[in-house]
Amino acid sequence: MHYPIFGSETLCPHCRQMMAALTLTDTYLCQRHGAFEADPKTEDLVHLQSGRHWRLWEGEWYRQHTHPDGIRFEIHEALDRLYTEGFRATKVIIAQRYRALINSYLEQAAPWSDPVGIGRPRLYGLPVEFSPDALDDRRWQVINFDLDKEPGIPLNSPHSRLFD
Ligand SMILES: [Zn+2]
Repeated sequence: MHYPIFGSETLCPHCRQMMAALTLTDTYLCQRHGAFEADPKTEDLVHLQSGRHWRLWEGEWYRQHTHPDGIRFEIHEALDRLYTEGFRATKVIIAQRYRALINSYLEQAAPWSDPVGIGRPRLYGLPVEFSPDALDDRRWQVINFDLDKEPGIPLNSPHSRLFD
């Protein structure tokens, strides 16, 4: 049997239902989302209908962005999720491969508001760094960003009453 690179079956990145490979092709078929094609060279999974690309890391699919709004939106969602889990982000680390795509969309901190971080770009008010080269750490060929975090003030803690 010849299967595509992700084996005889893999999860649909959209709905997480198991989708089966069509033998002798590079295609997986989701009942709801139709055909996905695996590219053996780039190890991308491409949704044929939408043209969206995904890569796999430790069992999770990561959408590969081609537009700055896509990755900015994903970071915004992750910040929201972090906040509801009781954390606050202190830094965003964006994969090196997005540098050219997103650079002109980052905010430059005004020198008087942030004397220490002069020239350091920001996104949603958070300092931004770029990841190490993906050759040194394969994870960064796949994932889009990472957030440094610290515990925030839980919404139901006594401290939060100060702000009532
Ligand atoms: Zn699906």
